[in-house]
Amino acid sequence: MTFITRFAPSPTGPLHLGHAYSAILAYDMAMDAGGDFLLRVEDIDQSRARPEWEAQIYDDLQWLGLWWPEPVMRQSERMDTYRKQLDWLWEWDYAFACSCSRRDVEAAVSAPQEGAEPPMGPDGLIYPGTCRNVRSFSGNFAQPENTALRLFMGTAFPFADHRVGEEDVFYFTETGEGPKGESGLIEFTAREAIDTIGDVVLARRDMGTSYHLSVVLDDAAQGVTHVVRGQDLFEATKIHVILQRLLNLPTPVYHHHRLIRDDAGKRLAKRDDARAIAKYRAEGATPGDIRAMVGLPG
Ligand code: GLU
Repeated sequence: MTFITRFAPSPTGPLHLGHAYSAILAYDMAMDAGGDFLLRVEDIDQSRARPEWEAQIYDDLQWLGLWWPEPVMRQSERMDTYRKQLDWLWEWDYAFACSCSRRDVEAAVSAPQEGAEPPMGPDGLIYPGTCRNVRSFSGNFAQPENTALRLFMGTAFPFADHRVGEEDVFYFTETGEGPKGESGLIEFTAREAIDTIGDVVLARRDMGTSYHLSVVLDDAAQGVTHVVRGQDLFEATKIHVILQRLLNLPTPVYHHHRLIRDDAGKRLAKRDDARAIAKYRAEGATPGDIRAMVGLPG
């Protein structure tokens, strides 16, 4: 099987040193294995994606010496695929409609435990379940328009990889490292997913899809065998594994890497223009300098 990695940036700002590290690492891993490196533009958030950022991404990556086959997959062109899978999840009751605003969720989770920190999952506050049963109570089986769709995490148990004692267990292989040093075979239970992840959004009302659903479908469609990305997405991988089981998709090997931080130890964000690759280029840095800055061999 060909070893396939990908870099999947969102064109919502300049690529910075953190992106350079992720892209070069994925590229080097594919080249070392005699495989392929693919590029994917994650532009489902059309309110923030800009053609000029997309153009800058191609330019920066080429300058870094990376090469990828054309055409590049763009998520905005795959909305029909996402919709089809959402319809299927809806039809089989793995998803439910949710009309809660962020404020509704905040109010519902903070009410019962005043003062205490509400539980957080990889996507923020863990959904308290407000809309979960509305559909069955209302007897309305048509998918409502203009609402978000959430994964009904409680339906994940039967899709687990195996049973250990009383627990339904999912797993994936990690060749890099999670934020707590997690590596090798990573196991997690369906119960843990319900308690620490919850009913995540699969389709945002304003977007018609979500990062989680799209990334899983696209990695499978592109035949990605090794997902190389930052440790900040380690916990989200559990959502991706569950979706892969539900949608009968293969699970790639995951390689989560350390994050590039600024001098104060803070992870670089899109708005850290100061560390934009374009800025270093303008100041005369070479691709080799960028490699050295992020600790990769030249
Ligand atoms: N589009 C995501 C980002 O820019 C990439 C996520 C992934 O690699 O799975 O953070």
